Amino acid sequence: MGKLIIFTAPSGAGKTTIVRHLLKVFPNLAFSVSATTRQPRSYEEEGRDYYFVSVSQFRSWIDAGAFAEWQEVYEGQFYGTLHSEISRLWAEGKHIIFDIDVKGAVNLKKTYGDQALSVFVKPPSPEVLFERLNLRRTEDPVSLAKRIAKTKEELSYQNKFDAILVNDVLETALTDAERLVSVFLGIGAKKNLENNP
Ligand code: ADP
Ligand code: 5GP
Repeated sequence: MGKLIIFTAPSGAGKTTIVRHLLKVFPNLAFSVSATTRQPRSYEEEGRDYYFVSVSQFRSWIDAGAFAEWQEVYEGQFYGTLHSEISRLWAEGKHIIFDIDVKGAVNLKKTYGDQALSVFVKPPSPEVLFERLNLRRTEDPVSLAKRIAKTKEELSYQNKFDAILVNDVLETALTDAERLVSVFLGIGAKKNLENNP
């Protein structure tokens, strides 16, 4: 049966970096493409990074019960996981990896229980987090301020998940993430055999 691997964290902690790495390492994982009402960043592609939709489209999907979970993550900006996305990826025989906010992650974990692994990516300190967000240069000053303002609340959620993954030195965090996923999917031994034939 298909499983769910949920990564969550404050914005800038490194979820996207870690999730992209895991998708390369584990071919049986697929990324859950969320719907959002925010504008695409220059490097983002429709249907690969997000389904970019209007607020009225998003609201009509809420009314139709189309979402497995959704949140107004920042004021006026909606994000959600469509039921159709989960069924689409399971139909392809994949386990699904998610990059979603802390409240959405708590809700999905509640719905799917032991079928899901929830991982909180923790920055070494709030200062490092702000520096990474700044260095990423994707946000205008208003959007940056919204993200920084939410950090404290998001960090207070860290104990609600199955695991906390500290993302200080990236290489260490990537190896730790691989280990968590291998154990959860029960493929640790196979990976080791492949690495040490
Ligand atoms: P999120 O998806 O959680 O918002 P990103 O994966 O976009 O975070 O990471 C935010 C920024 O920090 C990116 O520019 C990324 O390259 C960088 N980054 C991620 N992990 C590390 C790390 N361990 N050390 C230094 N920079 C990092
Ligand atoms: P960003 O705008 O930086 O891509 O994402 C902002 C926040 O929204 C991040 O915490 C991200 O994980 C979260 N997010 C992305 N997709 C979803 C989703 O489908 N549901 C929820 N609840 N949060 C999401």
